[in-house]
Amino acid sequence: MSREAREFCGLFGIYGHPEAVHKTFYGMYSLQHRGQESAGMCTTAGQTLLAHRGMGLVGEIFTRDVLEGLRNPVAIGHVRYSTTGSSTIQNAQPLLFNYAAGPLAIAHNGNLVNSGHLRKQFEARGSIFQTSTDSEIIMHLLAQPAERGADEHLIWALRQLRGAFSLLILTPSRMIAVRDAHGFRPLCVGVLDGAPVAASESCALDIVGAKYLREVKPGEVVEWSANGERSFLFPEKPEVPAHCIFEHVYFARPDSLVFGESVHRVRMSLGERLAREHPVPADLVIPIPDSGNDAALGYSHASKIPMEHGFVRNHYVGRTFIQPTQGARVSGVGLKLNVIGEVVRGKRLVVVDDSIIRGTTSRGRVRLLRQAGAKEIHMRISCPPIAHPCFYGIDFPNPEELVAARMSVEEIRRHLDLDSLAYLSLDGLLSSVSNPKDHYCTACYSGQYRVPVTEKFTKLLHESKC
Ligand code: AMP
Repeated sequence: MSREAREFCGLFGIYGHPEAVHKTFYGMYSLQHRGQESAGMCTTAGQTLLAHRGMGLVGEIFTRDVLEGLRNPVAIGHVRYSTTGSSTIQNAQPLLFNYAAGPLAIAHNGNLVNSGHLRKQFEARGSIFQTSTDSEIIMHLLAQPAERGADEHLIWALRQLRGAFSLLILTPSRMIAVRDAHGFRPLCVGVLDGAPVAASESCALDIVGAKYLREVKPGEVVEWSANGERSFLFPEKPEVPAHCIFEHVYFARPDSLVFGESVHRVRMSLGERLAREHPVPADLVIPIPDSGNDAALGYSHASKIPMEHGFVRNHYVGRTFIQPTQGARVSGVGLKLNVIGEVVRGKRLVVVDDSIIRGTTSRGRVRLLRQAGAKEIHMRISCPPIAHPCFYGIDFPNPEELVAARMSVEEIRRHLDLDSLAYLSLDGLLSSVSNPKDHYCTACYSGQYRVPVTEKFTKLLHESKC
């Protein structure tokens, strides 16, 4: 798979509010953890669409002047993270196009697994693509001459798509929220002063003062227009649910409701189970901030081992994964987290984190603890080893870079220089969430892909031996 296809993103939209632009700005701000590479907003007052997109963080891109220029009462916003190959302004979203029926903007979270195939078909007929994102396919499908009514045309277009997509679509007269038939990525709906709001995570509703109402259902289209709200399902038949469990493990904010339940509660429960599955005599539980905080609290509660902060995080450094090169990532470790020597010196530590991906940053952190004089370091990870690539929107590296695809747990333990290392079991993970176990996608742990992965992804699958 080309690295360009992999992205994770955040969506926010509001229909018919006098402060729509500012609310969208704050909504995007609160979803910044879902993407820090580019951001964009598109607004309308019913005639044309106004858009502004830029590279960087929401606060840097949307100055007071830019926000004033966007003014309108209907707005959608998008934050995006992708790998370096596709880090260009052309790929920033919402994508905005003019076609026969007028202007149209799309913001997409997730990853399509049949975009290469569809793109080839369009290109063979002479279509010109302006970006390298899979999201542009959706524009091309919608821009096809509609041989049916508007709803049927949208349904037809959505049925062509395979994989993960939570979408916000904006035209001068409508705002539409869509979630793929499996419900891979989250998308919820709220209300603010009577105006409907849609967001990837409920933390964005909280921040703007909106009330959480519900999730957009898998396969649901919700449309807001001058005629009010309506909703319908687009899939031909019900599909297997496949909520991305990694949203709960790592990706979403702990103050969000995702797939209908509190991320914080789930992470606490992961930590409690981890303590029961993998106890170890120790003096202190130390979280890796911020990703391990909630699970460490759970581990501490269940094990009765006190939790202390052994690391201090510099909040002005971005997520270390976001650095483009391995070298930059390594030097980013100490910059981002520093050890409180007083806390860890001479102590037996249980260090809790959510996941190990490449092992690079974990290794650096263990080294910092050793240098500070920790007596024993026992690492506990609140999910199973990640050994398989994600094709549905989480940016994991190529399988050969996934440490668990190359090494056994014992080899990873030695590689990271740990006294012990243990991961939560898959059953423990699935027992900590409240939807039925078969409602989640766990492909990154199990290699079982809910939606068949075809075309150029096959090579990667082969490489990851699944
Ligand atoms: P490493 O030891 O280099 O594999 O890095 C592990 C750290 O990366 C953990 O603290 C995770 O919270 C964090 N992490 C996990 N998945 C991702 C991701 N997709 N993007 C950025 N960071 C991640």
